[in-house]
Amino acid sequence: MAIEADVAVIGAGMAGVSVAYELAGDHDVVLLEQEGQPAYHTTGRSAAMFLQSYGGPVIRALTAASRLRYDEIGGLLSPRSLLWVAPAEQMDRLDAVAAAQPELVRLDPAGAVARCPALRLDWVAGALLEENASEIDVLGLHQFYLGGARRRGASVLVGAAVRGGRRTGGRWLLDTAAGPVTATAVVNAAGAWADEVAGDLGVPPLGLQPLRRTAAVARTDRVDRAWPLVGDVGETFYFRPEGAGVLVSPADETPSEPCDARAEDLDVALAVERINEATDLGLRSVVTAWAGLRTFAPDRLPVIGPDPAAPGLWWLAGQGGYGIQIAPELGRLAAAAVTGGAVPEALAVARFR
Ligand SMILES: Cc1cc2nc3c(=O)[nH]c(=O)nc-3n(C[C@H](O)[C@H](O)[C@H](O)COP(=O)(O)OP(=O)(O)OC[C@H]3O[C@@H](n4cnc5c(N)ncnc54)[C@H](O)[C@@H]3O)c2cc1C
Repeated sequence: MAIEADVAVIGAGMAGVSVAYELAGDHDVVLLEQEGQPAYHTTGRSAAMFLQSYGGPVIRALTAASRLRYDEIGGLLSPRSLLWVAPAEQMDRLDAVAAAQPELVRLDPAGAVARCPALRLDWVAGALLEENASEIDVLGLHQFYLGGARRRGASVLVGAAVRGGRRTGGRWLLDTAAGPVTATAVVNAAGAWADEVAGDLGVPPLGLQPLRRTAAVARTDRVDRAWPLVGDVGETFYFRPEGAGVLVSPADETPSEPCDARAEDLDVALAVERINEATDLGLRSVVTAWAGLRTFAPDRLPVIGPDPAAPGLWWLAGQGGYGIQIAPELGRLAAAAVTGGAVPEALAVARFR
């Protein structure tokens, strides 16, 4: 006997749970996750930051809209300001960001070092401060959506990899590791696998590219919990306090197949080297390291809504490096699209068809 639903959502990362939550209650929703636990892939591996000044104008608008939702839910954001820093050769870039975002506070090198005394005064040439950036309780947000979806009647199946599917009688019949599932609408929220899942459903891919990003926690007793997230504006590293050490990243973007991504020693070493060059932290060893896949569409904007090439298929993919902070607005837009609402043109699937 097939499980029957109005909407089958593929993937229980932040994307899948947010759209499942928004649709549950008014619709029979089944959430299908290939792993034995939700949030195992990219969602469980982020740097957990909410940065209003990160990304281009479309991303920043999605971030601002999501902020309202974060405030409504409450308790998920804690203060962690953001300091964009630039060595001399990145000053052009810093000036461009300052011109585009006049709300950022310009700091001279001494002002930057006052915010993070580990920075080398002879390395930093200028800085911009986003005072109201935050750290996100990522698992708290994921649980808000997942638990909420369940309470609204959604079924959540883990170990339920979608292996294929076809349209029959105006509905999808999905072949999953947990048995057959039929649904009127399918939402492809499969993260790094979204193009692969489309292929398994006989739908042409969109050209999504997973890019590996590495993070690690390095030991140091020099960290002050009040430091901001510090990142160079050229995006070659960032660090912030984490537990008794610092979370570090080389801000890498290495093309990858969809997979259970692992940190490479070389990438961890690069993060440590770049941060040691910009600071006097003198990092030597890391406690733990991990990597995740940030998946981008060719124009680096999310892809939401109905697929003109595939009746009954909706996408919620390509969240790149912003998929936690903009999840509330993307989940809302994706759910509205499933029920016939319009999607902003810049995010619509039609731009690739
Ligand atoms: C190091 C790092 C730092 C980051 N920092 C931030 C940050 O500070 N702020 C921010 O907003 N974002 C950040 N991101 C980006 C953010 O983590 C992602 O944009 C977001 O997690 C994407 O969520 P998702 O649900 O699309 O993907 P995922 O969490 O990967 O979920 C997709 C799910 O689909 C499932 N799936 C795949 N194929 C199938 C199938 N065939 N059947 C069933 N299930 C399937 C997978 O198992 C997976 O659970 C960071 C990412 C990384 C790697």
